[in-house]
Amino acid sequence: MARPNEFAAGAKATQSAIPPTEPLSSESCPFCVGHEALTPPAIATDPAGATDHWLVRVVPNKFPALEPAATPRSMEASCWGQVLPGLGTHEVVIESNQHVERTGEISVEQLTSVLRIYRQRLVELARDGRWRYAQVFKNVGKSGGASLAHLHSQILATATVPTTIKTELDHAARHAQATGRCLFCDLIERERSEGVRIVSDEAGVVVLCPFASRLPYETWVLPTAHDSHFEDSSDEMLAALAAKLHAIVKVMEEQLPEAAYNYLIHTAPFDSLRGPHYHWHVEIIPRVTMMAGFELGSGYFINPVSPEKAAAALKRMQLESTSARTLPMS
Ligand SMILES: [Zn+2]
Ligand SMILES: [Zn+2]
Ligand SMILES: [Zn+2]
Repeated sequence: MARPNEFAAGAKATQSAIPPTEPLSSESCPFCVGHEALTPPAIATDPAGATDHWLVRVVPNKFPALEPAATPRSMEASCWGQVLPGLGTHEVVIESNQHVERTGEISVEQLTSVLRIYRQRLVELARDGRWRYAQVFKNVGKSGGASLAHLHSQILATATVPTTIKTELDHAARHAQATGRCLFCDLIERERSEGVRIVSDEAGVVVLCPFASRLPYETWVLPTAHDSHFEDSSDEMLAALAAKLHAIVKVMEEQLPEAAYNYLIHTAPFDSLRGPHYHWHVEIIPRVTMMAGFELGSGYFINPVSPEKAAAALKRMQLESTSARTLPMS
């Protein structure tokens, strides 16, 4: 993995705070409580304004993949066409004051506090006016791209809407135009009627392994009531989401090799209308297979575990959460 200073702005890997592969104990870990001086000053904390007795702490990334500029939303013209400069902000959300490495080691209440701070940051980044989108994501394990063991996630705000979101938005907008309904609400209904890819469906949150998923055990978590913007979520929704996210991630951490995974929040761009054009959701992607030549060359994915099998296995594993069994890989 590249060191943070090996790429131009905008092309850096999303590593956080220190160069990768540097072993850290809790004594030297910059994210542990008591070591606040090792990071830039906090942008936000829970409780607000806490300097030492904090539960969650948000700091600017010391090695940002993107940097703010005086002239946001500008584009540089070149022989390559319009080149997007690496404009944005890059924040690290430290999810515990203790040196824990897994979501399963923190409580559901603590994860709720993390989700609430995501919401708070998205509200504030939207208010800033320079950014159109903020990608919340988490890298866990070496193949998940994590550079620091202490449990953390990241928020990258950008002046443009990322391609993946744009593709999802375009599909959803076409569907809304043709039917007047939300693509994701319809997907939930279709999955409910078939039932075979649903892991759980309660308390206003549905967990499913999507039809024709790209990667083994790819799992989506969606609010069942329509909502386009994550930052509009109620406290109740975030508590319900935390419970489901905690349960599913804990299973993956217990059952998957080296517990490498990513999760990310997909939400509507800040400046888009509240409507049926998008429905926020969390995508959880365990890193159990490598992207190889065929995937890179064709954009097609060979998934050895069908979503039906993945959903059934995750459902079973959730019930027997601390068992030593492993998830089937074919
Ligand atoms: Zn630590
Ligand atoms: Zn919807
Ligand atoms: Zn998505």
